[in-house]
Amino acid sequence: MITMEAKSKAPERNIYAMALEQLDHVAKVMHLDPNIHEYLKYPKRELTVSIPVRMDDGTLKVFTGYRVQHNQALGPSKGGLRFHPDVTLDEVRALAMWMTWKCSVVGLPYGGAKGGVIVDSKKMSKGELERLTRRFTAEINFMIGPEKDIPAPDVYTDAQVMAWIMDTYSMEKGYSVPGVVTGKPICIGGSQGRREATARGALYTMQEACKHLKMNLKGSKAIVQGFGNAGSIAAKLLSDEGVVVVGVSDSSGGIYNEKGLNVDEVIKIKGETGSVMHYSNASKVDRREILLQPCDILVPAAYENQIDEEYARKIHAKIIAEAANGPTTPEADRILHERGVFLIPDILANAGGVTVSYFEWVQDIQALFWSENEINNKLKEIMTRAFANVLKVSLDRKIDMRTAAYVVGVGRVAEALTIRGIYP
Ligand code: GLU
Repeated sequence: MITMEAKSKAPERNIYAMALEQLDHVAKVMHLDPNIHEYLKYPKRELTVSIPVRMDDGTLKVFTGYRVQHNQALGPSKGGLRFHPDVTLDEVRALAMWMTWKCSVVGLPYGGAKGGVIVDSKKMSKGELERLTRRFTAEINFMIGPEKDIPAPDVYTDAQVMAWIMDTYSMEKGYSVPGVVTGKPICIGGSQGRREATARGALYTMQEACKHLKMNLKGSKAIVQGFGNAGSIAAKLLSDEGVVVVGVSDSSGGIYNEKGLNVDEVIKIKGETGSVMHYSNASKVDRREILLQPCDILVPAAYENQIDEEYARKIHAKIIAEAANGPTTPEADRILHERGVFLIPDILANAGGVTVSYFEWVQDIQALFWSENEINNKLKEIMTRAFANVLKVSLDRKIDMRTAAYVVGVGRVAEALTIRGIYP
């Protein structure tokens, strides 16, 4: 099933401008070569396509889709595909750039990319969604492939959508190419643990943050904004660790109970009714206001641009783990840092998803598959090592965790670009 949270009504903001601002900031901090800085501001390649779809009622509708490859210095580009009515080219550009830093910060041999289609897929039938996905794949076909660019799920896309992409690409090649996408169903080359990977990776970083802050994860109180793939599984894993999950939200709103929610029950109710709001034993809160309720750990797992200056001043949490991409604005970052909130930035906190995507791609290429235990152990090793690297840079240079993650992420890409040189 595909779930989705509508965007909260945060003030409008161009997130590509925000991504560039973050890059400018780190360029100053790390004294980045101005030529490399200039290079990294632009996507390597971007494609806009029209996607004609025969609707169930016989009419034809044309949708717009994008695939942006930001950088391929470290390897083929990697990044999800999102279906959402608010998708813009600038949003996809920002998300592609963040994928470059994300893959680099955890040490994957990948560059960054992202795709998006402007569509309210909630309003489409399964057949319409399949035709949309297949035609989009056909339009971007020449740009993707296991050695070139590998899509994956993101907002409002899931394993079924990946299966259609894999099938369409394979039909055009004439043989099965499982490595063209990740996040596939297990039966066609998907990986154990991929579905839980974003949330599990985020959990590992929260465990490391608690160790560093000498805080007990068990018994602490957490709020999760967003109840899609990342959010719902993060809530479940946290509650399995003995964390009291006091609040969650989805597109319809949030629920809060200071004594804790029964996460299994919330997941069940969400599955049955489509919203967490039908859970009875909690007070109702606005979907964005949920971020401001009392808690120790806050996990934004919905959309970009949720924590602005005003929110940054009011947030109670001691730790913020960004399971979503880009939930915090640069102004909010400064305030959170001043207030001593420990922030685990998106490119680190949610890198578990793309890390297990990498494992899936490796397994597909060698046609040899690993157990869930092997996957989770390898994921833990990568996430804890990346966390330790970033924390060390943050402490050594006395900079906030986001800037530190950028120093590591941008640094590796800059090193690769420098050694490879500019063609011709
Ligand atoms: N969409 C996910 C992200 O933003 C996963 C990307 C992937 O696995 O390639 O990190």
